[in-house]
Amino acid sequence: GGGSSLVVVANRLPFDLEQLPDGSTRARPAPGGLVTALAPILSRRRGAWIGWPGQPDVELEPTQNDGIDLHPVTLSADEVADYYEGFSNDSLWPLYHDAVAESQFRREWWDAYQKVNRRFAERAAEVAAPGATVWVHDYQLQLVPAMLRAMREDVRIGFFLHIPFPPVELFSRLPWRSQIITGMLGADLVGFHLPGGARNFVRLATRLTGATSSGSVLHHQGRTIKAGAFPISIDSAGQSALAATPEVHEQARQLRSDLGNPDKIILGVDRLDYTKGIDVRLQAFGELLAEGDPSVENAVMVQIATPSRERLESYIRMREDIERRVGAINGDFGRIGFPAVHYMHQSLPREDLAAFYVAADVMTVTPLRDGMNLVAKEYVACRVDGGGVLLLSEFTGAARELRTSLLVNPYDTDGVKEGLRRALSMSNVEARRRMRTMRRQVLTHDVDRWAAAFLSALEGTRDLVAEAA
Ligand code: UDP
Repeated sequence: GGGSSLVVVANRLPFDLEQLPDGSTRARPAPGGLVTALAPILSRRRGAWIGWPGQPDVELEPTQNDGIDLHPVTLSADEVADYYEGFSNDSLWPLYHDAVAESQFRREWWDAYQKVNRRFAERAAEVAAPGATVWVHDYQLQLVPAMLRAMREDVRIGFFLHIPFPPVELFSRLPWRSQIITGMLGADLVGFHLPGGARNFVRLATRLTGATSSGSVLHHQGRTIKAGAFPISIDSAGQSALAATPEVHEQARQLRSDLGNPDKIILGVDRLDYTKGIDVRLQAFGELLAEGDPSVENAVMVQIATPSRERLESYIRMREDIERRVGAINGDFGRIGFPAVHYMHQSLPREDLAAFYVAADVMTVTPLRDGMNLVAKEYVACRVDGGGVLLLSEFTGAARELRTSLLVNPYDTDGVKEGLRRALSMSNVEARRRMRTMRRQVLTHDVDRWAAAFLSALEGTRDLVAEAA
């Protein structure tokens, strides 16, 4: 009884729940940046987490793990197909990422999105203590703030969007644009990675609803809503410490030797997603090999492409395209036992990833659009030796913070080639100077700081500071 004073609402629970034969449930942690950041705060405040356990048609009782109350939300197989794969990942995801793939809009997906958002809101209304703080996450749950507000006037509601928020012209394609904006306006604080996302939201709110604005503050139906930028980060110290262990060091050395001790290892680590620009870097590397500098004796590329959203047509097509490109480059330039591109369609544990980061001389991060890109920050945090070159798309959130990376426009093939050539030939002195600046940024701006900044802005600390100043 009593309820929780801090409630996180997110599509996924931070644990994979399994039902045991005796009917009880077992939670296995599915660690991600978000839970790492929020777990200590949640257990201090008798926190709760509302989310889907990741399997359709599974009905589970609430359970506890590490001092966090877990409240599983059941989704039917049809709801997973319509609310999650359909509306979230085939309508909103491409639209919010500059429409780099075509959005599919289906009315039955929208119906499922509303229905599932209501289920999450109802659960939050049950779980939240009087006057609690409820923090709603991401594009799958944009209607929850207003739905919850209508059920519980006493709670403080924060909403954070983990992906880009598009300009008015793009967002306006959405047939349900006003409903989505009205949903988000139920929050007291709406957070984005970048100031541009917050500005887009303020503009849309004034155009599509009766809201008025002064700067980043909106007024809507007698309430005040703040919009702001809160760039997310990683567990920088943890990542750095992991990279410094003798095990990871040895694994990185082994990796280099397995690759035939090339002069340069070029690395890419992404979910296999059309926003990531994996084709862009393959094109650039292939053209450089064709021109003879570097040669396969001097440089190899490793591309880890984690399986993702494999039932969606656009992902099936892009996987075929990437795998055809890898095959073509290896066919043209590989030697027996020494392919030019090592491609892994696999998900790796973070220890193994750390070894890849430590081994990589050049890290390629070339998304066409990415809200933040944590991989770029992880690479920087892992370079405890102070070396390594980061080639980074200017269309990632991370580009705003990692100013001394080699920034490239992923649509400019010659520019990416030039960037890759520069990265491969950069002096140690220059690489270390650039990396030092990036490490300072990542180590001082970690995910704890992000969570604390958002929660203090939501819970008023920041207002008090501003008023006192
Ligand atoms: N990741 C992982 N195993 C893999 C590939 C990636 O654990 O095989 C992790 C990676 O360390 C990072 C996250 O997945 O923390 C990807 O986050 P990012 O912001 O780069 O991209 P997203 O997948 O969220 O679009």
